[in-house]
Amino acid sequence: MAKVVKFGGSSLASAEQFEKVGKIIHEDKDRRYVVPSAPGKRNSKDTKVTDMLYACYDLAESGQDFSAALRAIEARYDEIISGLGLKLSLKDEFATIEKSFREKAGRDYAASRGEYLNGHIMAAYLGFEFVDAATVIFFDENGNFDADKTQEVLSEKLKSMKNAVVPGFYGAMPDGSVKTFSRGGSDITGSIVAKAIHADVYENWTDVSGFLIADPRIIRNPEKIEFITYRELRELAYMGASVLHEDAIFPVRQEGIPINIRNTNMPQDSGTWIVGSTCQKSRYTITGIAGKKGFCAVNIEKDMMNSEVGFGRKVLQAFEESDISFEHLPSGIDTMTVFVHQDEFIHKEQKVVSAIHRLAKPDTVDIESDLALIAVVGRGMRSTRGTAGRIFSALAHAHINVKMIDQGSSEINIIIGVSNSDFETAIRAIYDIFVVTRL
Ligand code: ASP
Repeated sequence: MAKVVKFGGSSLASAEQFEKVGKIIHEDKDRRYVVPSAPGKRNSKDTKVTDMLYACYDLAESGQDFSAALRAIEARYDEIISGLGLKLSLKDEFATIEKSFREKAGRDYAASRGEYLNGHIMAAYLGFEFVDAATVIFFDENGNFDADKTQEVLSEKLKSMKNAVVPGFYGAMPDGSVKTFSRGGSDITGSIVAKAIHADVYENWTDVSGFLIADPRIIRNPEKIEFITYRELRELAYMGASVLHEDAIFPVRQEGIPINIRNTNMPQDSGTWIVGSTCQKSRYTITGIAGKKGFCAVNIEKDMMNSEVGFGRKVLQAFEESDISFEHLPSGIDTMTVFVHQDEFIHKEQKVVSAIHRLAKPDTVDIESDLALIAVVGRGMRSTRGTAGRIFSALAHAHINVKMIDQGSSEINIIIGVSNSDFETAIRAIYDIFVVTRL
């Protein structure tokens, strides 16, 4: 058995957190490959080391004095090292970093040092070998992750290693320069390492005990999701639910490796399992609810629209000409609605409307703004009748006007459009009917 364990920034923010992590790893000898993030916030007012590195590098790049900013970063690591009682010195590493900053080694290089240095501490603390991610994780000339080359080199490298620490978040370009993934990218590294060694499980340790059915800022103490499929997670993540980096799903998904989200501060909790498919029924018809505010609906009407071949294409062309992607496309007999992101659309609206007139010659076009979309997601909806009906009646009881409803063809999600101002009330009404009263 082999498990890959990735620890997020808050799990590694201090010596105390490192000790919890050490205990978790030593408790299970299958936890052989460790992917650390950079030290995160120790409290809500604290700054993540990654952000300190970006700020420090910006000073260096603009020719300002950055030594105090760099010393502050060094102090964060020294505090961890001395707290753990390690005999490790990062003096030489910091001298190299300072020199590279002066030589303007790049923002990605700068940010990557957060994980790189934390990886060294982790390796020393655990007695595991350190593998620099720049030697095993690769990007192509266009800056896209090179999955094939990485798989080949990384699996070969780890094959002979019983244990290893591979820092998250970065890799190397073909010319050897360091490149990072987007923010939160250590999740992706964990997934890549899990794929390379054909891990049995990818454990992703963070500061929450898994995914919640709904946003805790809207629902007080929402229940946790025990099992969620990759597809369900994609739907929810797209609609704003976040714990894991979106791109972290793909490498493990191809290999059928489950992801287990766990809480470093409550290791006894079983967390959430993200799996390819499961016969584990979710306790409720729905698995989760997520949503976003800030959409516009462009309503287009034309008599006999239904019989006009190519009408939809012409309308969408008008959006494409302005480089605007659409979110949803519910349609009726003589009407069609295009949902778009308000902030993207607002500056281009008149251009798009006139293009719709020019291309599709509709009778009317009108725009409704300040709308929210809510996704109700669940594999259980496929085998349950009346889900949409229950959502409607819950919203009617809460006096919410439903602007749109759209069931995805996979039957695992229903999207509902409401006014921004009804967003929270709508989510509460849906949560109540499926989870609280479990009708
Ligand atoms: N340290 C990086 C960030 O703050 C990457 C990560 O934590 O996953 O975005």
